[in-house]
Amino acid sequence: MRYVSTRGRSPELGFADVLLAGLAPDGGLYVPTEWPRLPLHLPTSSYEELAVAVMEPFIGDDIPSQVFERLVGEAYSTFRHDAVTPLRQLSADDWLLDLAQGPTLAFKDVALQLVGRLFDYVLGVRNERVMIVGATSGDTGSAAIDGVRACSNVDIVILYPHGRTSDVQRRQMTTVDAPNAHAVAIEGTFDDCQDLVKAMFNDAPFRDRMRLSAVNSINWARVMAQTVYYVYATQQLGWRPTSFSVPTGNFGNVLAGWIAREMGAPIHSLVVGSNENDILTRFFETRAMVATDVVPTLSPSMDIQVSSNFERLLFEMNGRDGGLTEEQLLRFRSTGRLSVEDDQFEQWIAPVFHAARFDDAATLRIIREVADATGEIIDPHTAVGIGAARLHREQGVPMVTTSTAHAAKFPDAVERAIGVRPALPAHLADLLERPERTRVLPNDLRSVQQFVESVAR
Ligand SMILES: *Cc1c(COP(=O)(O)O)cnc(C)c1O
Repeated sequence: MRYVSTRGRSPELGFADVLLAGLAPDGGLYVPTEWPRLPLHLPTSSYEELAVAVMEPFIGDDIPSQVFERLVGEAYSTFRHDAVTPLRQLSADDWLLDLAQGPTLAFKDVALQLVGRLFDYVLGVRNERVMIVGATSGDTGSAAIDGVRACSNVDIVILYPHGRTSDVQRRQMTTVDAPNAHAVAIEGTFDDCQDLVKAMFNDAPFRDRMRLSAVNSINWARVMAQTVYYVYATQQLGWRPTSFSVPTGNFGNVLAGWIAREMGAPIHSLVVGSNENDILTRFFETRAMVATDVVPTLSPSMDIQVSSNFERLLFEMNGRDGGLTEEQLLRFRSTGRLSVEDDQFEQWIAPVFHAARFDDAATLRIIREVADATGEIIDPHTAVGIGAARLHREQGVPMVTTSTAHAAKFPDAVERAIGVRPALPAHLADLLERPERTRVLPNDLRSVQQFVESVAR
């Protein structure tokens, strides 16, 4: 399989190069030259076997089959449930796909447990190493650290805003006992952390000397790993037309559903749930994407200004014209506004996508209603998904909401909703007693660069 950039000005690459590159040199995102069809006979024995069958066409010859099978097996053995992403019934046509059974209790584990192992393997073959640097406001940092903790060819430094993450989120980063993993508290905001990461990448000599790399949500391999559970859920429901509701931030999760549909999974519609940061929901209502300031909500992993993975869908909507896609995105960056033609909207969006937004009060109400009606304790992100699912349910079509985090990851919001503090699962029960290893650094590029140099192996 070969990959092209959504901005049309980067050379075609194979899977392994796309994995390590993340962003294309022209600033675009990599997509396969064509969407493969799912094999006619998909394995039904386990999530792992299905995962190999769904992803193999994307890997091509870059990783030998037996190696890929082993990496997939190792990645998903870290999940608490044998089914990896178990599907639970809430009511007649209403289902919950639990994506939070991984080590850090959020759906990002599904991708990052595999991507860390893919990185390590590819780097090992090439006799190379990388230093992954990233900024996090919570979920991504812990999932990235956990995904690479056992990798001998990868070091990782994650910056988080000092005193501004939840206890659980911070401790999931600072209690990892691995020589290659480093969580750093920056005396500043999440934006300061992001700016420091950008500045490190923009310092070309430093970037090259340290072999800096990233595993952010635009990395193709993350999207690829997420297509599997859409196929899995549809298979579990008897391969009949099935809809999905997806609490959405960067558009990575729901895009994977769209790709599974392109590959031939009988996916009926995809419902995008947003919190008050509703740029996507407004786009689906008005056909125009207009950036506004981010407001903090109870579902912080969806507090985004722009949904970076939307670029991949836009590229398809533009008939895979990279020049046009780049032009639109540059204009969006300078004016904060992007609109699409009516015929594009009618062809690509209207038949598949729906959207809905929920504020914090509605989010709390949904958590309470679901607990009362079903006994399921859901987190605030999942609640947004459930709310969106309810609005767009159709008679006779199963509706699957993707549950993107364990309730214990957001205990304050859940306690506000139902009066009970959700307990951490057994493997994290002593999280609050484990020794923390962290470093506090000023919001200063030189200090952070010195730290990165000092921990590189
Ligand atoms: C990252 C995240 C999301 C948003 O997923 P996208 O792929 O960015 O749309 C939703 N919920 C939780 C809990 C997350 O961690």
